Amino acid sequence: MCLKILEDSRLYVLLLKIDGDLAEGERVAGCACGGALHRANYPRKPRAVARGTLPEGYDRRHSFCCAEDGCRKRRTPASVRFLGRKVYLGAVVALVTALRHGANARRAAELRRAIGASRRTLARWRAWWKETFTATPFWRTARARWVPPVSEAALPASLLERFVEEDDAMRLVLLLGFVKPVTTTSGGRISMGD
Ligand SMILES: [Zn+2]
Repeated sequence: MCLKILEDSRLYVLLLKIDGDLAEGERVAGCACGGALHRANYPRKPRAVARGTLPEGYDRRHSFCCAEDGCRKRRTPASVRFLGRKVYLGAVVALVTALRHGANARRAAELRRAIGASRRTLARWRAWWKETFTATPFWRTARARWVPPVSEAALPASLLERFVEEDDAMRLVLLLGFVKPVTTTSGGRISMGD
């Protein structure tokens, strides 16, 4: 795997399409109270990917609000593009953290330069995978599905290597699809199995 994957706009077009489908599923399902869901997207300003590489639509994350007075609950569908509130795209956070694993100091510096992120930012991403992600109810259930067990210390590299695909970008897409339940707190309807 290498950083070149992040320069191919086809990756972002595919992720955008998947997010669109996830959002549409959420919208059609409606609110638990029976109300209709109206768009209330979150603005986003993703960093580290050249402007011309991202298709239109990356400046917002899909989200909805229930239209019913007295409910108005927000529902934010799972996403393969955005991991939480981070300004970096999930693809960047996942791939760079995976490549950083086991890299020597020179290589690590190259990675930071390539995406314009600080040492502290990369350390934060690593901590997110090692501590925050591994503590999620999703992962605590899902990790049992991997035999032999996935090394939590080597996340997400250890997960990425389990997705066997000829196309490296596709492996990244599968990884993002797998971890997407952790990208939303209102994703009660999202099955752990998809
Ligand atoms: Zn409602």
